[in-house]
Amino acid sequence: MSGAVQFDYFQHCVHCGLCLPKCPTYAELGDENDSPRGRIYLMQAIDSGRIAPSERIQHHLDLCLDCRACETVCPSGVQYGRLIESYRTKINGDQYRGSGLLDRLVRRLVLFVFPYRRRIKWLRRALRIAGAVGLFDFLRASGFARRYGAGLRFAEVIDREPSTLAPLPRHSLPQRGKPRARVGLFIGCVGEAILGATNRATHRVLRRNGCAVDCPTDQVCCGAIHYHAGDRASAARFARANIDAFESPNEQLDAIVVNVAGCGLMLKDYAELLSDDPQYAERAGHFADRVRDVSEFLTEHGIEPPTHAIAERVTYHHACHLCHGQGIRQQPQHLLSLIPGLELVDLKEADWCCGAAGTYSLTQPDMANRLARRKLQNIDETRSQIVATANAGCILHLRQQAIETGRDLQIVHPIDLLDRAYGPREERS
Ligand code: SF4
Ligand code: SF4
Repeated sequence: MSGAVQFDYFQHCVHCGLCLPKCPTYAELGDENDSPRGRIYLMQAIDSGRIAPSERIQHHLDLCLDCRACETVCPSGVQYGRLIESYRTKINGDQYRGSGLLDRLVRRLVLFVFPYRRRIKWLRRALRIAGAVGLFDFLRASGFARRYGAGLRFAEVIDREPSTLAPLPRHSLPQRGKPRARVGLFIGCVGEAILGATNRATHRVLRRNGCAVDCPTDQVCCGAIHYHAGDRASAARFARANIDAFESPNEQLDAIVVNVAGCGLMLKDYAELLSDDPQYAERAGHFADRVRDVSEFLTEHGIEPPTHAIAERVTYHHACHLCHGQGIRQQPQHLLSLIPGLELVDLKEADWCCGAAGTYSLTQPDMANRLARRKLQNIDETRSQIVATANAGCILHLRQQAIETGRDLQIVHPIDLLDRAYGPREERS
């Protein structure tokens, strides 16, 4: 598998600068080096040998959220995401990282733990013990907390989520009648280990809407955490395992449904990721063609309107990898608009990154905090008590920031609200 930077993507940039006002890091810092155009220039200059990589340059590139807001507005169709990702693959392959030892250790820890549900569960147990013996208080008082306070706060937020949910069944029939579709449910690693309740809500909503749902037990992380960190080989390993897991010798799945924006984008990219793998290229294409975000699937499939009212003001935050990465904007809002009594209020800068960006909130906590505070101020203006967003990272990051700033906000997935609007669970099984 090649780790080379894909030069073609450089050539499309005509340096018009239309992307600059949409780039969150440029908006915050006002430095051209922290803009899409500046970063393209830096990557191209390093790649061609015109400038040598340095810690300062690496910092500008590490600060990129990979949110792809620049792709949405670029008139030349520059595929910035492919550029930065192939660049990060090259940097990873060259063993060059500009960051310090502690940063590298945190990155290693993130890559070691987060793609694996069982390791996340161990981590949660360890964190509980660490909290009980006062380790967090000790770290908070030390220099460690100044740099990695976000990690500590994140640990405290994930500790609040329920951790003892029964596994989802391997095969399930629709709630009533014959199946109108047979779907596979992708449950993810962080998504299942921390926000498993949303996976169960998705499972119920799919069954309510006439789907037979398969949930393969041997599915693994989508690979996005490694892919965005420049470890393409590990991402490809996860992709092959998932293709194997969702291929059934007997039954063809109509769709592979996912409720996390970042995972969905990665799954849809398997064809590109495995394009030079002779054994998997064709299967990866077939797999990727059937991946659907749950809101996309339900809108295409047709949805039974919910009947139980949720009389609340709700605003919707676009997850970057859903709106910029997959072009899905209307479908989640359409599902919310079907809920009786729910008032959907527009959010200013709704498609600006909240700073979660995968593991970014752990590796770049200062910028992640700035962007979250900007998002929360815009949410305040809507006077909504509920924020709906379709990505596990955004949910956890905004929950953490809301708690920290003393806001009484519910941050939920649109499917959680839709599930509630179908009424109490005991009425439905
Ligand atoms: S909008 Fe596109 S073409 Fe214009 S500077 Fe940005 S990346 Fe380059
Ligand atoms: S991906 Fe996002 S943060 Fe990175 S350059 Fe583009 S707009 Fe800016």
